[in-house]
Amino acid sequence: MNKLPIIVVGGGLGGAMAALALGKKGFDVLLLEEGEEFGVIGYGIQLGPNVFWMLDRLGVSEAVLAKALRPKSLVMYDWIDGGVITRIPTGDSFVRRFKKPYVVIHRVDLHGVLLDACRALPNVQMIAKTEVKSFEDLGDRVRVDIADGRKYEGAALIGADGIRSTIRQQMTNEGPPRSLGYVAHRTIVPMSEVNFDVDTDNVVMWSGDGFHIVHYPLREHSLFNVVTVFKTLDMAPTDTDSPHPDLARVYRDSHPTMKKLWGMMDLSRRGWVSHDRDPIRHWSRGRVTLLGDAAHPTLQSLAQGACMAIEDAVCLAELLHDTSGDRVDQSFRQYVNARYLRTARVQYESRYLWDNYYHLGGIEREVMRDTWEKKTEEQVFDCIAWLYDGFKLPQRA
Ligand SMILES: Cc1cc2nc3c(=O)[nH]c(=O)nc-3n(C[C@H](O)[C@H](O)[C@H](O)COP(=O)(O)OP(=O)(O)OC[C@H]3O[C@@H](n4cnc5c(N)ncnc54)[C@H](O)[C@@H]3O)c2cc1C
Repeated sequence: MNKLPIIVVGGGLGGAMAALALGKKGFDVLLLEEGEEFGVIGYGIQLGPNVFWMLDRLGVSEAVLAKALRPKSLVMYDWIDGGVITRIPTGDSFVRRFKKPYVVIHRVDLHGVLLDACRALPNVQMIAKTEVKSFEDLGDRVRVDIADGRKYEGAALIGADGIRSTIRQQMTNEGPPRSLGYVAHRTIVPMSEVNFDVDTDNVVMWSGDGFHIVHYPLREHSLFNVVTVFKTLDMAPTDTDSPHPDLARVYRDSHPTMKKLWGMMDLSRRGWVSHDRDPIRHWSRGRVTLLGDAAHPTLQSLAQGACMAIEDAVCLAELLHDTSGDRVDQSFRQYVNARYLRTARVQYESRYLWDNYYHLGGIEREVMRDTWEKKTEEQVFDCIAWLYDGFKLPQRA
């Protein structure tokens, strides 16, 4: 057994979960994060039922559920008249169907649970302020070079360094991710400041021609999390009362609640540009592999990017036998084979929903609404079952 640690680059949700899953299997792990600290990214996150099978396996489901909130349903409202387009109840019938709950949680709280569980393991070491610049696969081990000149050696390397992954760039040399021409803004405010008529019990999406807004409560309804996403049209400022020139063409017709929601955002700030990549079939080479957004970055349409990273992490740890000889290469290939179709489907379906469901205008929007309004609860559950039924972990060969 190679006694060098497994190096995980990137301490986001995927990297933290990988460190925990590998640490629990008894591997020595070195988790490297370029940020000043681990786990400080704010805002909310939705977790589908599929992820709880993985959290159960690592014994952290209860800790996550203690910090999470269970919404009553996922609802999509029409941007003009506020009518319900789709409602997925997430109460008893949902749990009966999918065996696990649907929750929303503050990212800091979720990250905190994973990092605390890592800290409880003596074989997991976490180092912040450590930006990995490059790696070298030396055949029997790997080496990473840090921006400040430090070097670390490991038995294997996992790039969990996000959509702009340095490890992936060195592996594939494919350039930056694809921009969708949309930009996201996020905010969290105390619920006491939400003094207009808005649904605060559910995960809500308002969708319309070239934009959507998602909001939900967090931390026992004490916080209100809002994300707005709109197409960047580079419009010149106009004299309408629209909060951003790119929204001017839709603002006048928007439902009054949407206008209030936009009013909560500081849209003059630079937002997050929406990106993804095309799926790939191979993301492992020798002793190096990728995980999460580094491997299969997806749009947030299904709210599953972090869920996929968590599934990746458990699958990878499950398949890694030991880190000696060519077993690593073999285990990493099995891991990619087990994961690429499911994660590619998430990437493709997220794009499909983005273009053909969330951002429609005119008659297309009316057709979509007419189709979805008529679906029964059972039919809606069936549509999403491929994802929410969960990922069956492969057996070691
Ligand atoms: C608006 C929005 C809403 C979303 N909502 C959801 C949701 O509800 N549910 C869900 O499941 N997903 C959601 N996602 C997707 C989710 O945020 C990502 O898929 C997830 O965070 C990916 O995790 P990761 O660990 O792979 O990457 P990241 O979270 O990007 O973490 C990468 C880490 O690596 C570090 N790093 C980067 N480069 C280096 C380097 N060279 N050296 C050392 N460290 C490095 C970074 O600092 C970071 O900490 C959403 C995304 C967006 C944009």
